[in-house]
Amino acid sequence: MPQLDKNHNRIPQWLKRNLAPADSARNVHKALDKLQLNTVCQSALCPNRQECWASGTATFMILGDACTRNCRFCSVGHEGIRPPDPHEPEKLVEAVKSLGIKHVVITSVTRDDLEDDGAGHFARCLELLHESQEGITLEVLVPDFNGRESLIKRVLDASPDIYSHNLETVESLTPKIRSRARYDLSLQVLKTAKRHKPDIYTKSGIMVGLGESFPEIEKAMDDLRAVSCDILTIGQYLRPTLEQLPVVKYYNLDEFKIMEQGALARGFKQVVSTPLARSSYHAEKVFQHIV
Ligand code: SF4
Repeated sequence: MPQLDKNHNRIPQWLKRNLAPADSARNVHKALDKLQLNTVCQSALCPNRQECWASGTATFMILGDACTRNCRFCSVGHEGIRPPDPHEPEKLVEAVKSLGIKHVVITSVTRDDLEDDGAGHFARCLELLHESQEGITLEVLVPDFNGRESLIKRVLDASPDIYSHNLETVESLTPKIRSRARYDLSLQVLKTAKRHKPDIYTKSGIMVGLGESFPEIEKAMDDLRAVSCDILTIGQYLRPTLEQLPVVKYYNLDEFKIMEQGALARGFKQVVSTPLARSSYHAEKVFQHIV
């Protein structure tokens, strides 16, 4: 029986996963449940969850599980926005220690409702993690903080090793796909980060399959290199539920290779261009290759 997507189209062979036995991800599940921490792996229905969790890693999602924006590709919820859990930074440290994670990836929902958009909470998490373990490496995938430089700097001053902010899609599709976000503002966020802390690696990601053209993908690469972005991930958009936009195109493996070569030729230091690439996919390996 062919596997069908939510639009009843056949899912290409290269997107099917060999699911690891659920048992091997049990430790991650237990630690997250016990500490009531959220992950983007669960909230965004990431297709790599079995693989990543089985290898003992996850991407923590701080500042709650309800987002103040409503992007058309994303399955993170919006109901029940609450003040951030003041103990979340300590819980994060405990989870990281108990799982033995050496390269921690932290993202968040967007919190336009908070006075500092959640930047202080991000920074506190980074500071506590640095204090907790010598040699730990930290990667943040941040919202745009509405472009406010003081907030971008607040997070950078807490010394992440990688500062990541996703462009998500090409310029023409940004108003249709992202909520309240602007293409030029996202580029500006990455530019500000590089200018403020040139030694911190910057990273961005785009999804393909939403109706963009190849030249538009190349333009996004050029725009990211123009703000000195170091690392790029390119992955296939997969519709998480019927609430989100349908897939317009499934790219094949050769096309992902061509995008990878195009990105490397433009000077990105690391590129992950595969159908199931997500910002945090194999994040530790990518970091080890760049340093
Ligand atoms: S790719 Fe990232 S978000 Fe997806 S399961 Fe792995 S760590 Fe989680």
